[in-house]
Amino acid sequence: MQISDVRLFIGGEWRKTKETLPVINPADEQMIGTVAVAETSDLEAAVSAAAEGFRVWSRTSPAERARIMLKAAALMRERIEEIALSITLENGKTLNEARLEVIRGCEFFEWDAGEAVRFYGRVIPSAPGIRYIVLHEPIGPVAGFAPWNFPMSQPARKIAGALAAGCSIILKSSEETPTGATHIARAFVDAGLPAGVLNLVYGIPSRISEFLIPRPEIRAIAFTGSTPVGKHLTELAARYMKPALMELGGHAPVVVCEDADPVAAGIASASRKYRNAGQVCTSPTRFFVHEALYDRFVTAFTETAAKVRVGNGLDPETTMGPVANNRRIAALEELVADAQSRGARLLFGGSRLKNNGYFFPPTALADLPDDARVMREEPFGPLAVINPVVSIDEAIDKANSLPFGLAAYGFTNSVANADRLMSGLEAGNISINTLEASVAETPFGGVKESGLGREGGTEGLHHYTVVKNVSCRIL
Ligand code: NAD
Repeated sequence: MQISDVRLFIGGEWRKTKETLPVINPADEQMIGTVAVAETSDLEAAVSAAAEGFRVWSRTSPAERARIMLKAAALMRERIEEIALSITLENGKTLNEARLEVIRGCEFFEWDAGEAVRFYGRVIPSAPGIRYIVLHEPIGPVAGFAPWNFPMSQPARKIAGALAAGCSIILKSSEETPTGATHIARAFVDAGLPAGVLNLVYGIPSRISEFLIPRPEIRAIAFTGSTPVGKHLTELAARYMKPALMELGGHAPVVVCEDADPVAAGIASASRKYRNAGQVCTSPTRFFVHEALYDRFVTAFTETAAKVRVGNGLDPETTMGPVANNRRIAALEELVADAQSRGARLLFGGSRLKNNGYFFPPTALADLPDDARVMREEPFGPLAVINPVVSIDEAIDKANSLPFGLAAYGFTNSVANADRLMSGLEAGNISINTLEASVAETPFGGVKESGLGREGGTEGLHHYTVVKNVSCRIL
């Protein structure tokens, strides 16, 4: 099966380029299509289009913006099967996961459409004869960068925030998974979005970011991806005094307290860990389990993981597809070998499954020393690490010991322990007795090196707006 060849989308036109890159299906390593590579002239055109798009869209009423966003989301819901199929082909995840991703992407548009019409400014109490008024205005054209793990919902999050606020956007989605964003653009064209408001580019990532970020027309940057690339883009943005929203790596800890149900926690944890083959920035990964529950937790986790069916995401029996690229296979194998060489116990999995396709099995390591690389480096794949702890304090200290702080989880039946986890864990998103880190209506983002700023929730439009204070003397 093939995807259609992916073009750039600039100023309302689908543009072909001389150069293209292959798009590979991770389930069989076959080329399934190509993606356009933007040249400087394409990027120039995208900047001009976004500047014109901003002029039109920033003057469009919030109600009209919301109407178009809701219509586009409704179209994407109607096209869910077509969109899900292309996500599975380019990314590998199961069709069911791809459908859930499309729904989540639509929820981002629907929530932010609502925010567009209720992102109020305020009137500050003042002396007679003068008025102080605070306005939220769209910041300007945005350069957005989205990764390959959620080909549709990652672009959706950035496009939704920018468009709801009244900004235009040039989005560079992943060259490895380019079609998710094209389905969004098609739906917006059909919903009546003016040309230039949404533009898609693909190509050489560093060339694109180094062209767009310095351009004076571009007023804000939004990136999701790895911490090293995020730091590089933040430095570049700072050089041009541009705000940078950064949603970066995590290495989410899970604290299983002495009073938790070890079987329920083990089942919930293994059910979540292998979703999207673990390629989720909030994926629960470092398990710190009270020693009194440790064996029962490990057994429940192992038994649940054994039910995962690895295979082609198009097969309805499959519950976990391949990882998205061969970089993940190499990284996972290295982390497992390093941990084993330092004395960790391999509970299951650990090496590539087949020679064809990027299949890596559900994997868990136990009893790891602190110096194992995987205790510090995000595996970004189907790999969990499980260690016993003697107390909640030890668990919280270990959870906080890394420079990351995106999501953190806890299992407990005690209100007091829930409170200690909520206040003690350093992360932008804490979930107790659930492994859902965020929904469209809640703010999402990290602390420490996991990022800057928030997407979603009522905070989601802040990055895309500037605050203007008006002092008006009434004559
Ligand atoms: P990578 O660091 O090379 O790339 C990460 C993303 O950044 C990709 O989408 C890539 O296209 C983009 N990118 C890279 N250099 C860029 C540049 N100079 N300008 C603009 N964009 C650029 O790594 P990778 O192998 O693709 O992914 C590995 C790591 O990335 C994972 O281990 C994980 O930590 C992180 N990641 C995080 C998320 C997330 O949701 N936070 C998503 C995907 C990857």
